[in-house]
Amino acid sequence: MNDFSDLLAANQTYTQSFDLAGFDGVARAGVAMVTCMDSRIDPLRMIGLHPGDAKILRNPGGRVTDQALVALVLGVNLLNVDRVLVVEHTRCAMASSTEADLRQKVGNAANVDASWMTLGAIDDQRATIINDVQRVRTHPLIRDSVLVGGFLYDVDSGKLEQVV
Ligand SMILES: [Zn+2]
Repeated sequence: MNDFSDLLAANQTYTQSFDLAGFDGVARAGVAMVTCMDSRIDPLRMIGLHPGDAKILRNPGGRVTDQALVALVLGVNLLNVDRVLVVEHTRCAMASSTEADLRQKVGNAANVDASWMTLGAIDDQRATIINDVQRVRTHPLIRDSVLVGGFLYDVDSGKLEQVV
């Protein structure tokens, strides 16, 4: 399929039973999660939440990037967030290659030099989770009463382990 017609057809069906209208867009459960873009992760269902309950911020590796921090500041101050989960996962592609290997793979796939680009390979997941949680906790615009936890999600069992 080289166009979007299948997805737009599915959307047509979706609108027929659409039930998320008339909602102000706060995080109803007060939760924000930073996690990886990996398609094996279902961020809401893994913690028993539903659409409308949480702010979900995804990127390669589930990193607390500058942009993720902007979203968390907005979430905490304007959108009802009072708990933040930083969730990396097992068998993450970002944590199983070196930066050089990742650049090589991307460069080979694109058939264009990728050696100039920062892709963000993760050297030590647990250390990264601890550092990223610290970035959130120490942000001047995120109040101390906000709970911030770091977790590792097992893509084979669905289990979420708290690291920090
Ligand atoms: Zn990943």
